Amino acid sequence: MIDKQLNRRTLLAIIIVGVTGALNAPSFAGKSSETKPFTFAQLCDTQLGFGGYEHDINSFKQAVKQINAFKPDFVVICGDLVHIPSDKSFTDFKKIKDGLTMPCYCAAGNHDVGNKPTPASLKRYRKVIGKDYYSFEHRGYTFVFTNTQLWKAPVKDESEKHNAWVIQKLKEAKKKHSPVFVVAHYPLYVKKPEEKELYYNLPLDKRKELLTLYEECGVVAVLAGHTHRTIINSYKGIQLVNGEATSKNFDNRPLGFRLWNVASPTAVKHEFIPLKLKEAEPDAKPDASLAPNG
Ligand SMILES: [Zn+2]
Repeated sequence: MIDKQLNRRTLLAIIIVGVTGALNAPSFAGKSSETKPFTFAQLCDTQLGFGGYEHDINSFKQAVKQINAFKPDFVVICGDLVHIPSDKSFTDFKKIKDGLTMPCYCAAGNHDVGNKPTPASLKRYRKVIGKDYYSFEHRGYTFVFTNTQLWKAPVKDESEKHNAWVIQKLKEAKKKHSPVFVVAHYPLYVKKPEEKELYYNLPLDKRKELLTLYEECGVVAVLAGHTHRTIINSYKGIQLVNGEATSKNFDNRPLGFRLWNVASPTAVKHEFIPLKLKEAEPDAKPDASLAPNG
């Protein structure tokens, strides 16, 4: 009799705990057993030629060396691969990138496709570097690479196509209960979600639309570059991370990259890894051509 009562109580407790756990869990955690742990590296603004051409070549090479030693599953580069797109800069970039012993995925930055991209600049990027927006799945997670320049400075037909594609990919991921990482160049915002549009963020209307979409579709993190300042924000549980550059930082942060450790959809962490550089770092003053208001 006592045994039966205990069993019933135990069963009830298990049901209560189970229901409470399910209610507290994020929407994508229902099938979290389908995700597996992994690590990846985030590089920002390799921007060959911004902190001094030789300097940036050396620091990118050093980043490749250190990333190879960590052996992450893959690397993402959040745009501004080069400072001025040319056959030489893109060739140098690719040569160093090919030194990575794991796959590397790039996002397009304003320096790669132009502040105001054109059909010609997009064509060149696609020919030399590859697709400017695409996605892949890894260990149950979906990585969506966006071309933020197509939101920042719309290009006829191209921007509509890109926007529809991003919405579709996110909805597909949601359907599969696959947590999403968005890789971008421009951050959504720098300080506050409602801040006005500046050089360093996305237009307010588009930003609101994306924040809602990301929240609804189980985005766990948005990785970006462009700011040359480390910015770590959180929006309704979504991590928004603009990491350190390997070319030049404006906030006196050391050059380096971020190593992400994805243990589960609710345990996603990242840490900064400084570059082991011998020479002095370049002057950290902003370049006039990049600064928003001078
Ligand atoms: Zn940029």
